[in-house]
Amino acid sequence: MRIGVIGAGIGGLTSAALLARRGFEVVVWEQAAQVGGCASTFRRGGFTFEVGATQAAGLEPGGIHYEVFTELGVPVPPSCWCDPACAVYLPGEAEPVRVWRDPERWRAERQRQFPGSEPFWQFLDRLFQVGWHFQQRQPVIPPRSWWDWTQLLQSLHLDTLLISPLSLVTVGQVLHVFGLGGHHRLKTFLDMQLKLYSQCTADETALLYGVTALGIAHAPQGLHHLQGSMQGLSQGLLQGLQRWGGRVRRRQRVTEIVVKRNRVQGVWVENARGERRYEAVDHLVANVTAVDLVRLLGEATPRGYRRRIEQLPPASGCFVLYLGVKQAAIPANCPLHLQFMYDAQGEIAENNSLFVSVSQPGDGRAPAGMATIIASSFTDMWLWQQGDYAALKRQYTEQALARLGTFFDLSPANIVHCEAATPRTFARYTARWQGMVGGIGQRVTTFGALGLATRTPIEHLWLVGDSVHPGEGTAGVSYAAKQAVAQIMAEVGREKQENSHD
Ligand SMILES: Cc1cc2nc3c(=O)[nH]c(=O)nc-3n(C[C@H](O)[C@H](O)[C@H](O)COP(=O)(O)OP(=O)(O)OC[C@H]3O[C@@H](n4cnc5c(N)ncnc54)[C@H](O)[C@@H]3O)c2cc1C
Repeated sequence: MRIGVIGAGIGGLTSAALLARRGFEVVVWEQAAQVGGCASTFRRGGFTFEVGATQAAGLEPGGIHYEVFTELGVPVPPSCWCDPACAVYLPGEAEPVRVWRDPERWRAERQRQFPGSEPFWQFLDRLFQVGWHFQQRQPVIPPRSWWDWTQLLQSLHLDTLLISPLSLVTVGQVLHVFGLGGHHRLKTFLDMQLKLYSQCTADETALLYGVTALGIAHAPQGLHHLQGSMQGLSQGLLQGLQRWGGRVRRRQRVTEIVVKRNRVQGVWVENARGERRYEAVDHLVANVTAVDLVRLLGEATPRGYRRRIEQLPPASGCFVLYLGVKQAAIPANCPLHLQFMYDAQGEIAENNSLFVSVSQPGDGRAPAGMATIIASSFTDMWLWQQGDYAALKRQYTEQALARLGTFFDLSPANIVHCEAATPRTFARYTARWQGMVGGIGQRVTTFGALGLATRTPIEHLWLVGDSVHPGEGTAGVSYAAKQAVAQIMAEVGREKQENSHD
């Protein structure tokens, strides 16, 4: 049986490697020259820059990446803890909120920073525990078939049932319940952190997603800084895929998914020379955004599915500045990750915050005596489709340099390399429509049972990646990939049984 995978992002590679491990003939078509998508890297004059993702959850025993690498029989990429996971600078403040990995240290920090909020945090901690154990039981969410429902029901325990009504509640609503609706500093902190993980603020973020995003940074879980770069994740998955006989064909873009009688038949693939060929498949895993899936399906998209995707809230784009600097630019004891907001009112708006990742000596990202600084901000992707693109890029670059210059010593002598990526850059290198990044946002209407499913309405077509539940991040897309693989196994088994009865 032949399974095709569109895209070698973390979602596509995880699905492909696990399917190869289970004995299927697997081929992955990747339009770029290298694997990893938003979690890949590029090199410039001795510096290695992470395109997008810079920290990874799930590499510790019990974590999703750890489990996948172990199953594939390849080494888990070496990493150290991000501790603090982030130093969050609230507007106008010189002392950051440090998100420590050690739960006791984090408790002391949050009590000092946000007096009176402890019951709120303890409530979040309890929900995190329930949600974490639920996810470990590998529920199928959202369920779309009888088999999906049986998997979901088997993973429900009393505690999950008790918290299930909370799937309709936002983080902001719970803040109000705890009498913290007027706690401006806390609200700003939550908005800044949640925007990174859920694409939306506390008032919009689904509570049960928010507790995972906020809880994952603390022991026994935590966020990892990979030795070398984030490319270690995709290289490890590639190694696992190849070990089990799977193949990746680079610079091969899938331009159309062919469907007959509501079942996938194959794909049209275009190589770098523009030559097109047809490839037949038995199952197809699409590691693309939901919008791109509809574009690849064209007229074959079921009407209801197309409407659902057209009605999704608008996605975000990002602007990223990549700096290669002399080590002298970095303050002593600088954390690996920092977050800044440049709005006196503490309101998230276009390009008014920066998430910054800094390399550390010996981590494989910069030559001796040098360092990398990667700073990203959210931007409206439509802004970059109109007007004077070059001028806008220059303006955003200068503004980011000026802002970063208030923390780092960015005198011209310290800057060795400087370049920026915009939504247009992401569209070009990751083939994501208009350069949209980070999935569809984890609002109540797009999370959990109301989220997009890995099982599409077209038979033998599976959607993985950050558009589907449980959302974005390399760990999130790997959970979805594992779910799709389990569904394919069940489907293949069911059809085999049906055929043997014929
Ligand atoms: C600036 C930024 C910072 C981030 N920081 C973090 C972080 O610190 N930690 C974290 O966990 N996550 C982070 N994320 C999110 C994370 O990178 C993504 O959620 C995750 O990598 C998405 O993986 P994916 O497999 O869904 O998709 P992608 O990474 O988009 O991979 C899809 C792949 O498919 C290929 N492709 C697309 N269309 C076609 C086609 N038609 N034919 C062939 N190939 C195709 C693309 O080239 C790409 O390689 C960040 C994202 C951004 C943009």
